[in-house]
Amino acid sequence: MIPFNVPPCVGDELDYVKQAIDSHKICGDGAFTKKCNAWLEERFGAQKVLLTTSGTTALDMAMLLCGLQPGDEVILPSYTFSSTATSAVLAGAKLVFVDVRPDTMNIDETKIEAAITDRTKVIMVVHYAGVACEMDTILDIARRHGLKVVEDAAQGVMSSYKGRALGTIGDFGCYSFHETKNYSMGEGGALVINDPACNERAEILREKGTNRAKFFRGQVDKYTWVDFGDSYLPSELNAAYLWAQLLHADEINDDRMRTWNAYREAFQPLADAGKVELPVIPEGCVHNAHMFYIKCKDLEERTALIRYLKEHDILAVFHYIPLHSAPAGRKFGRFDGEDLYTTKESERLVRLPLYYGLTETDRAQVIRHVLAFYGA
Ligand SMILES: *Cc1c(COP(=O)(O)O)cnc(C)c1O
Repeated sequence: MIPFNVPPCVGDELDYVKQAIDSHKICGDGAFTKKCNAWLEERFGAQKVLLTTSGTTALDMAMLLCGLQPGDEVILPSYTFSSTATSAVLAGAKLVFVDVRPDTMNIDETKIEAAITDRTKVIMVVHYAGVACEMDTILDIARRHGLKVVEDAAQGVMSSYKGRALGTIGDFGCYSFHETKNYSMGEGGALVINDPACNERAEILREKGTNRAKFFRGQVDKYTWVDFGDSYLPSELNAAYLWAQLLHADEINDDRMRTWNAYREAFQPLADAGKVELPVIPEGCVHNAHMFYIKCKDLEERTALIRYLKEHDILAVFHYIPLHSAPAGRKFGRFDGEDLYTTKESERLVRLPLYYGLTETDRAQVIRHVLAFYGA
């Protein structure tokens, strides 16, 4: 069976995990966490990055740091993972879903402004498949209406928009290092803070409401409980695993990109013949090969393709069921405007196996069977 995903492993993860164990420091904010934070800051030109226990908790932190009040509204796409939405709900917000663009499956920037009310506080964008949203337009709207922008860049680590790393463009950026993402620590994530004025509040929030981070820097002589907070520090064991991957970040990226490009090339004739649609990478966007999907004619054809591939020992999957149609989505939010593409396009989309280390033989197998399904 060719799996849909295999968690990334470069080979020296255990060496670093052992170093963490031998250092007798396995709780949060030890040497490996600091190294990962610094690497991400330097590589992406970020002002401040803090590892978290998941992409979801990075989103939770971002939304809490936006200072929402009950009744405030957050604009977001409906075509996303539940984490994007639930972080806003946890912070007390009402959800206002906006349609996606069919070419990138990202929030349609031309439909955001109509969804803004006097309660709107935040625009949450999701860089789907590691392909950037139209950030210039979105930042301009946010500036004119005094809104914050949170980037769900869970899938966008190592991607960029007009030369800027995803996650570093809005007020906050959120990465995921879940086992299904390009770089992993099992469960984990990171919060990118782009306004230095938020650094201290973020550290307090992450450290159970204490100013412990300041204490360790020698800025206060004892630490104390100063505000509400939670614990968002990942274990050093997880950070050590991630550190191994970051040192091989380019190798992982190149490997995924080779598969992505091979799929793109192999299926171009199907697209030219009008049988499928392929991912679109807008100008100015550099993506990270997080995902390769094709869009079938409709739901029926997609179901048949997934079944066909399974019969040939290939696992292809779909997602997301639009959030506004889910029980919690109906309870906490509303869809603004018309759902022209969210539902229709989500029903056509199928994701093919793509992971670090996918062999050329397996890749060729996937290509052969997809082409065969379409009689090519
Ligand atoms: C994976 C993902 C998340 C959640 O990340 P976790 O690390 O699994 O909590 C959030 N948003 C999007 C778009 C994702 O793909």
